[in-house]
Amino acid sequence: MTPVYDRVALIGLGLIAGSMAHAMRANGLAGEIVGTARSAETRDIARDIGLVDRVTDTAAEAVVGADLVVLAVPVGAMAAVAEDIAPHLAPGATVTDVGSVKRDVIAQVGPLLPDGVHFVPGHPLAGTEHSGPRSGFATLFRNRYTLLTPPEGSDPAAVARLRALWEGMGALVEEMDPDHHDLVLAVTSHTPHLIAYTMVGVADDLRRVTDSEVIKYSAAGFRDFTRIAASDPTMWRDVFLTNRDATLEILGRFTEELFALQRAIRTGDGDLLHDYFTRTRAIRRGILEAGQDTDAPNFGRGDGGGKAG
Ligand code: NAP
Repeated sequence: MTPVYDRVALIGLGLIAGSMAHAMRANGLAGEIVGTARSAETRDIARDIGLVDRVTDTAAEAVVGADLVVLAVPVGAMAAVAEDIAPHLAPGATVTDVGSVKRDVIAQVGPLLPDGVHFVPGHPLAGTEHSGPRSGFATLFRNRYTLLTPPEGSDPAAVARLRALWEGMGALVEEMDPDHHDLVLAVTSHTPHLIAYTMVGVADDLRRVTDSEVIKYSAAGFRDFTRIAASDPTMWRDVFLTNRDATLEILGRFTEELFALQRAIRTGDGDLLHDYFTRTRAIRRGILEAGQDTDAPNFGRGDGGGKAG
């Protein structure tokens, strides 16, 4: 395949950037892949395992001469990175990000980039609970959606080129308004993560059920439901701090539904419970039919393909 970009700079070398490096290599999508990370430890590991063609010590060095720059750091760190690299970006380059929240990233990063540089934000809806430079793999994005949220007035050619890169990595690409993106993700990812984190906290608090019992009997739902609670704490802290409005709105609705179910249990309203579970089962089956999950007991996350930040 002809490379889509001559030089791609990956800022951050964790799960998402690492998977992009593997996928770009496997599909010949980049002439050269340059990468950098905050810590010397991650940069050393990346060098040792040959994750990218060249590892630089700073982000400023990494972006020199790159026609695509990918910000693959936690959402709360995007602005500082953008500030660092801005003076070193090549005219005509595209900057994208893979952050799980879009409105806040656009508000913070957009104004820092110089004229003549295209900013096309993105978000691959694919992930695992693992992180770091060894956690990536080439097929992470295959058949998963990547949402691009280009601001109004974006150069269509720059958007089309980034789309070609993601499609080359196997992703299904759609464009979406950033605010709508944040609401959709609050429903499909952010609030479920918060609930999973809460459930693990509850199990821990409840001393009447021992830790060994929780693990031993976890096939009963706890294991699958709370697997995502092992995800990176920094990333998730930043997601909730930056997608505050949408998450709070969805949590409000969630709490109301939960109270309704709680009341039904207390009053013995079996019809309400049965109707509710019938409806939710149909919705869940609809998700399976749409191909965004599998029927496997681990919800298709066994190879890391199912979860999205
Ligand atoms: P990760 O595996 O934890 O890697 C994060 C990378 O960012 C590391 O290389 C880390 O460097 C660097 N970093 C962390 N804090 C930094 C800071 N303050 N300044 C500069 N660099 C910093 O994370 P990831 O899962 O790839 O996530 C990266 C982005 O993708 C996040 O914005 C996240 O919201 C988004 N995303 C994640 C998922 C998911 O499920 N994991 C899915 C879709 C999108 P060191 O290793 O040196 O600390």
